[in-house]
Amino acid sequence: MSARILDGKMLAQRLQQELKNEVELLRVRFGKTPRFMNITIGQEPSAGSYGKSQKRAADFIGIDYQFAYLSSQVTQKELLDYVHGLNEDPDIHGIMLHKPVPEGIDFQQAVNRIVPHKDIEGMNIANLGLLMLGRTNIIPCTSAAAMALLLSCGIDLAGKEAVIVGRSEIVGKPMMLLLLEKNATVTVCHRGTSKAGRLIDQVGRAEVLVVAMGKPGFIKGAWVREGSVVIDVGINAVNGKIVGDVEFDEAARRAAFITPVPGGVGPLTAVMLMKNGIETFKTQMQMV
Ligand code: NDP
Repeated sequence: MSARILDGKMLAQRLQQELKNEVELLRVRFGKTPRFMNITIGQEPSAGSYGKSQKRAADFIGIDYQFAYLSSQVTQKELLDYVHGLNEDPDIHGIMLHKPVPEGIDFQQAVNRIVPHKDIEGMNIANLGLLMLGRTNIIPCTSAAAMALLLSCGIDLAGKEAVIVGRSEIVGKPMMLLLLEKNATVTVCHRGTSKAGRLIDQVGRAEVLVVAMGKPGFIKGAWVREGSVVIDVGINAVNGKIVGDVEFDEAARRAAFITPVPGGVGPLTAVMLMKNGIETFKTQMQMV
């Protein structure tokens, strides 16, 4: 079997166009367009590739996307006060705090200071709680992107064996909740699974495999189940090239669908951030 490629760039373009149309309708209805602030500490905010792709997506959609640069010397209190100021500003409809933050800054505490209806990354504890209950439209962006690609292949997830490798707060855990919501039977693997020598078996059972480890080519193509859907979230720089966590060529011979790296989950992530932000904007427009 030779897998069909799940093209994240194409899906991102389609979704961006839909969001652009929605923003135009919202502008007509409310007389305003969404305005978001990306807070970056200790580095040039728009320099990173994620920052650039956020700005590109926002510009296309018609969102005013700003970067706030805070010095690496900023204290936790100053950061919390800064976030509070943005919370109180009626012209800011969405806030995100760029990772990594310098040592000494408590990222989660600062994200929890963002009011839930301006938390465009969905990493605020209130939004994560709502995600757990299946009651929010604000979905952590990377898992939202992975899910959009998965659904784009038309698979009915109910009862499917879904295996996630990686249990981070930003990818693996939200993915687990999203797959459960779709009635998949979900297994989450981590270093403990590997140490017990059980990772190969778990991967081999997966009808849907989502990998977010940050380890280039760790998942061997030969482990992948025939006819499965493989979503590779990993982004790793190796000898000047970006590669995923899954050994692509061999996996693509066995899977029915597979995401490339680059060009799979990555291009969709910034668009999902904008999608979340449009939800927060709508919530705020309905609050006034
Ligand atoms: P983390 O480092 O936070 O988590 C990695 C996870 O992989 C952990 O749960 C860890 O297990 C697990 N893991 C590591 N080694 C092994 C092993 N040998 N066997 C089994 N499990 C293992 O990474 P992130 O979730 O933040 O990111 C993962 C990848 O996704 C990275 O390549 C990152 O660049 C990429 N990424 C891509 C994004 C995109 O937009 N496309 C956005 C965010 C991330 P344990 O918990 O036991 O330590």
